[in-house]
Amino acid sequence: SLNLEKASFKDFENMEGKSPFEWAEAFDRYVQNWSGRGHWNYYQEGVSGCMPEVELNLPGQPRTRFVSLVSNDYLGFTQHPAVKAAAIAGIEKYGAGSAASPAIGGHMGYHRQIEDKIARFFRHESAMLYTTGYTANSATMQALLKREDLAILDMAVHASMYEGCQLTNVKVFPHNNMEKLERILSDSQGHYRTRMVIVDGVYSQPGDIAKLDEVVKLAKHYGAYVAMDDAHGVGVVGNTGRGAIELYDLFGWVDIITGTFSKTFGHLGGYVVADPKLVGFLKFQARQHIFSVAMTPASCCILKSVDLIDEEPWWKERLWTNINYLRTGLLTMGFDLGNTQSAIIPVMTGDPNLNAEACSLLLQAGIYANQIGYPAVPRKNARIRMSITAAHTLEHMDKILNAWDWVGRKLNLNKYPIKT
Ligand code: PMP
Repeated sequence: SLNLEKASFKDFENMEGKSPFEWAEAFDRYVQNWSGRGHWNYYQEGVSGCMPEVELNLPGQPRTRFVSLVSNDYLGFTQHPAVKAAAIAGIEKYGAGSAASPAIGGHMGYHRQIEDKIARFFRHESAMLYTTGYTANSATMQALLKREDLAILDMAVHASMYEGCQLTNVKVFPHNNMEKLERILSDSQGHYRTRMVIVDGVYSQPGDIAKLDEVVKLAKHYGAYVAMDDAHGVGVVGNTGRGAIELYDLFGWVDIITGTFSKTFGHLGGYVVADPKLVGFLKFQARQHIFSVAMTPASCCILKSVDLIDEEPWWKERLWTNINYLRTGLLTMGFDLGNTQSAIIPVMTGDPNLNAEACSLLLQAGIYANQIGYPAVPRKNARIRMSITAAHTLEHMDKILNAWDWVGRKLNLNKYPIKT
């Protein structure tokens, strides 16, 4: 009874009367249908890496080279010789794994060094590590916010924050809407033990920036705390790449900063930067920190990539040359890019089928980009999402613009030529 053309992820969240194995079978049919039509980026087994150009094995086609827009390696540090060398040196010194969770022997010298480095990066005293950015968010919020508390979320925060708030009360305000945030803060006054406003620095799907100055002002006025995940802002925005907190000069004003080492820092892992007592508490309360293995010795490369942000500022400059070039080109052709202010550039298509069509046409033109739809964004906000990096060249940008020119005309996506 499942209509494969119309089905979406939501249909598989809970299939009434069916066992998980039956859901899985139905889901497999759904995936086969989409991938058979060339509309599926997941598990591209042939992807040759996360470089600006990659080779892919698309079904029924010879191995081909594409310009890749799917990696969040914003400064190109996954390929930086000094970062790779630091990972190798870490393995040589400590071994291939850490082999224990932090609380029972897995916390080694390099963990302490990474904690200190990332804390200082944000001009703060203390930080703690998680093995992913996802757990940094979900485990931290789970440990801090319970039945007596209230989490106030910008609608566009990452899924990991939503997951972290499952044990507490949740109110969501429309993206970047400060009037609605204020309404929630004033209406909830006196009803909860702790209230935590949770925002991103740079938002992962629209690529726009939080109104962090207003968020902090409102939260302080109404006696709430602020947590910010700046996974996509660090390395990209702010004069020296400290992200939204630097852009607004709010060092010391955000109670909990979370982030990931998997984007700008070129590796993986998550961090929480906060007051030393809170960090000490979380180290023994966040279940994923206590009961799960510590970051591996290859993570020593983070010590280098954090330094590189200051030592080699030209990567960020190159990134912005690319961003500005591509953004200007696409806007001139009349595409709707939402309100992007970062290295994430979405092209809005507004329809899942159009989105899929655009994605496969881009592939035909040699461009590998992600199609984003439900549940990451509402269906009507379907988009092609491009992540730009410092490792791309202006030739890549031209190739992308030419491809969009062709795709836009074919699908009637843009208002070309734009009238001024
Ligand atoms: N926060 C945001 C805003 C993200 O976009 C992501 C990754 N997609 C994460 C957290 C999770 O980070 P990680 O991939 O390191 O788990």
